[in-house]
Amino acid sequence: MKLQEYHAKKLLLERGLPVPEFSVAETPAEAGRAALPYFATGAGRVVVKAQVLVGGRGKAGGVKLAASPEEAEQVAAQILGLDIKGSLVRRVLVAPAAEIAQEFYLSCVLDRSARKVLFMGSAEGGVEIEQVAAEKPDAISYIHAHAHLGLLDYQARLLAYEMDLGGPHLREFVTIAKGLYATMIANDADLVEINPLAIVRDHLPDATARETLQCLDAKITIDDSALERHPELEAMRDLDEEDPVDVAARQQGLSFIRLDGTIGCMVNGAGLAMTTMDLIKRAGGEPANFLDIGGGAKADKVAAAMRLILADASVRAILVNIFGGIARGDEVAHGLVEARAQQERHVPMVVRIVGTNAQEAARILADAGDPDIQAAASLDEAVERVVAVAGATEVRA
Ligand code: GDP
Ligand code: MN
Repeated sequence: MKLQEYHAKKLLLERGLPVPEFSVAETPAEAGRAALPYFATGAGRVVVKAQVLVGGRGKAGGVKLAASPEEAEQVAAQILGLDIKGSLVRRVLVAPAAEIAQEFYLSCVLDRSARKVLFMGSAEGGVEIEQVAAEKPDAISYIHAHAHLGLLDYQARLLAYEMDLGGPHLREFVTIAKGLYATMIANDADLVEINPLAIVRDHLPDATARETLQCLDAKITIDDSALERHPELEAMRDLDEEDPVDVAARQQGLSFIRLDGTIGCMVNGAGLAMTTMDLIKRAGGEPANFLDIGGGAKADKVAAAMRLILADASVRAILVNIFGGIARGDEVAHGLVEARAQQERHVPMVVRIVGTNAQEAARILADAGDPDIQAAASLDEAVERVVAVAGATEVRA
């Protein structure tokens, strides 16, 4: 799950990282009011930033500076309602603008193959890291944190030197890099990215200037599987920016991942679902989704799963593969017949149900007398049939 910048910055602040103060506004007037105290306490300008879950907001006109509360209101009016790469801007972040002396990139990600946290740093900050990786791969430095002890001081220093960030900011950098690691572990994040991490100049009352490292942007993604133990993070989920299909699947407790094929799959158990997809591919077909309806699925859950599958217009045939254990075959069969009655689009379905109450399931399906429902005795037969049917079927309205 991706977090909005203002949520990500809150998590950084909780770990004591240097983030300029900010507020969040949903209307231009609110943005103007949010800017007032910053100007009152000496800010020369504020920055107004679109809060959407896509990168490159700056280039898309989603990050603007303003020199007065009135101007903050005006630029907020320009940014709110913008469509940035398909995301509608509903909120802006307002913060005192930083005077940037230099921009860096710093992130940590979970490196599954190394089973460690990988830090990436670059003096090419402010631009998207994918672009740096493509154009100047040598400008990115990498270091793995210690698997048990986390990022050690010497590792952080090494990274700093490679980023040409030694000297006066070395200690700050070490604290920040270790803070990213702490943020990652505390929140079960799989990515914490600061771009730009900036040297920011502050002008002091005695006319001298002070330069400090500050996190001006933050991107954090949380491991979905860990959300159960972080209700406070789950509450940060932005439903407005999620695919409605994903939202519906989660509400029903279904694991559903859309793919590009034409054969919808309804299976119980993740392992069986993977195997079913493999068999479809081996038989020359392409699965349209991964779907695990889970153990003990009742008729209404089966019907909901069927709606998710049929919401995908490229589905031409459906394979139902149920190994009845805790899930009862008759419940699933009832769900299929029920779903059939509700649905507008008729797509041929090949059904293989074995295990608990399989015979009853077969009777329920036969009694339904639906020519689009074909029962298969074995999994091999089911797969062969569904691939043949999908190949021969045009999508019917
Ligand atoms: P992104 O484009 O979505 O990554 O959004 P960022 O928050 O990284 O902002 C994009 C760019 O806007 C940064 O790289 C900076 O150059 C600029 N920017 C962001 N915040 C400030 C700020 O407080 N002051 C100034 N002067 N520029 C800023
Ligand atoms: Mn950025």
